[in-house]
Amino acid sequence: MTERIDLRSDTVTLPTDAMRAAMAAAVVGDDQYGEDPSTNRLQARCAELLGKEAAVWLPTGTMANQVALRTLTRPGDEVVACRESHAAWHELGGAAANAGVQIFEIGQGGRFSAEELRAAVKPRNFAIFPTTTLVEVENTHNRAGGVVVPQADVLQICAVARELGLATFLDGARLWNASAATGLAVAELAAPFDLAAVAFSKGLGAPGGSLLAGSKALISAATRHRQRLGGAMRQNGIFAAAALHALDFHLARLPEDHANARVLAEALAAGGLLRLDLATVQTNIVVFHLPGSLAIDAQTLSARARERGVLVNAFGPRTVRAVTHLNVTRAQCQRAAAVLLELLAA
Ligand SMILES: *Cc1c(COP(=O)(O)O)cnc(C)c1O
Repeated sequence: MTERIDLRSDTVTLPTDAMRAAMAAAVVGDDQYGEDPSTNRLQARCAELLGKEAAVWLPTGTMANQVALRTLTRPGDEVVACRESHAAWHELGGAAANAGVQIFEIGQGGRFSAEELRAAVKPRNFAIFPTTTLVEVENTHNRAGGVVVPQADVLQICAVARELGLATFLDGARLWNASAATGLAVAELAAPFDLAAVAFSKGLGAPGGSLLAGSKALISAATRHRQRLGGAMRQNGIFAAAALHALDFHLARLPEDHANARVLAEALAAGGLLRLDLATVQTNIVVFHLPGSLAIDAQTLSARARERGVLVNAFGPRTVRAVTHLNVTRAQCQRAAAVLLELLAA
């Protein structure tokens, strides 16, 4: 049987034996009554890690985004976010369906400037414009290839937001990776934002879970929206224990994933067959493009690679994404690059 190298996402990681043991041993209670000790411990620890007053558990990053939008906007409002942000591209129109807002996308390559934000905010004193009430930053930015948003940009964006009376939200599903790549504490990365989301089901390798952190008042409102969307759980400590274990044992190893992504990207780029901007390979995501000169498209490449045991995602007609994580080794990244290049050359 061919070895399976799954680079589709860092969500495919499996809980380790040690993580399962921590889950089995978790002290639990009813979290809807606020009585799950493990969830309470995780929420307190994450509030402190993120430098906020409070934090609340959410089953998924998608729901964290939905709850954040509902907490910080009203139906009919407009949200400014970076082009190809997760909230606009990967949540099935949830922003419109659940929060009743429209997303206005600006910038590119995972980044936008404070001046682009200023230009995007609709004038408040005309009757025909939607009210721009929120700006969202995604760090790291998934579809742009896991790029880190420079903190200088973040500070300027949030300063303009405050000046214009907008709320600020950080989609930090991979904020741990941004912290590992920059050496800045997650609290510093989250400091300029009213609400910040982080995820445990990506690079940290837990089976599920995200958290929203912010002021007590905002987290209390977010908890009510979580209930309304059906996201409040009961003996959630089993999940929280996995997240706590991930903070203890998987957080510090993220630089390994980044180094492996680098190895994969450099091997792919060295083939000279595809378009890959190595400057975008800053964390654990490698996004590359198939030039029109190649007969093969992303779907076909992904299907053929699967037959050879290498799994990658077709991210667009000619765009492919590969993600490193704790269940792939450096040697497997090298092998995956060799297989992909062989298929491209064929
Ligand atoms: C994966 C992801 C989410 C959603 O997380 P799920 O747990 O898969 O719902 C949100 N934002 C970003 C940037 C992501 O990469």
